[in-house]
Amino acid sequence: MSIGDVVEAILSSKYLIAFTGAGISAESGIPTFRGENGLWRKYKPEELATPEAFRRNPRLVWEWYKWRMEIVFKAKPNRAHYALAELESLGLLKCVITQNVDGLHWRAGSRCVVELHGSLYRVRCIGCSYKSELREPPKAIPPKCPVCGNLLRPSVVWFGEPLPSSEWTRALNHAYKADTVLVIGTSGVVYPAAYIPFIVKENKGVVIEINISDTPITSIADIVIRERAGKAMEEIIRAIKEGMGFTS
Ligand code: NAD
Ligand code: ZN
Repeated sequence: MSIGDVVEAILSSKYLIAFTGAGISAESGIPTFRGENGLWRKYKPEELATPEAFRRNPRLVWEWYKWRMEIVFKAKPNRAHYALAELESLGLLKCVITQNVDGLHWRAGSRCVVELHGSLYRVRCIGCSYKSELREPPKAIPPKCPVCGNLLRPSVVWFGEPLPSSEWTRALNHAYKADTVLVIGTSGVVYPAAYIPFIVKENKGVVIEINISDTPITSIADIVIRERAGKAMEEIIRAIKEGMGFTS
């Protein structure tokens, strides 16, 4: 299976979506959860990214998020994020459904982005409806709500919490319409997000996986590219543009 097969699948698709995970941002210097650099101090994400951990020790959870925000806010989109934005502007990609909270898809210029797990660029109050956008990590942690004085929390989905229903509905709408899905850099183990490629497969769609290692999605993938996301997507977008008559 080659890049040529992916290009052919993309060009013959009628409703292509992308489903992305932490691996697409690895080349931007943002650590993934699973795999090397997967641990933070002695904690596992599953132990920190939970409502219980926040209730028990909000400062510790905020230290972890502040560390991640510092990395993410300085990071830049890579070739894979830009290639997806370009596929959308060429009219070949309908939407990106991401599990990432790093904002790199919209920062690369993608317009249709479903952020299934929220964003590190937003915080909300645990006591009232106050919400705010962030440009830099909060200076004092844990930060407090300016309206009611309760704690602010990152506006991300923690283990054991439901997905924001509006985002999940949008994701499902795209997944049910899709005849092709590009699955990039996800371990495919976090549910319900990981249903997305299975829905496309159930509807007889084409599943393309780009990942440096095997995942549970590999077994349903029609095309598998064992390559880093940046390199693979750069080759794909170059071949597509050449095929469409672009020479640059
Ligand atoms: P994950 O950490 O479980 O898995 C990462 C996957 O990416 C692995 O399958 C790995 O083989 C692959 N990978 C690593 N480097 C790659 C590369 N250069 N090219 C292609 N593939 C590569 O991540 P996940 O599946 O997204 O699930 C974990 C959860 O972690 C998500 O819910 C997400 O919210 C959160 N998370 C987000 C970020 C981020 O926003 N950048 C970072 C870490 C974790
Ligand atoms: Zn409040």
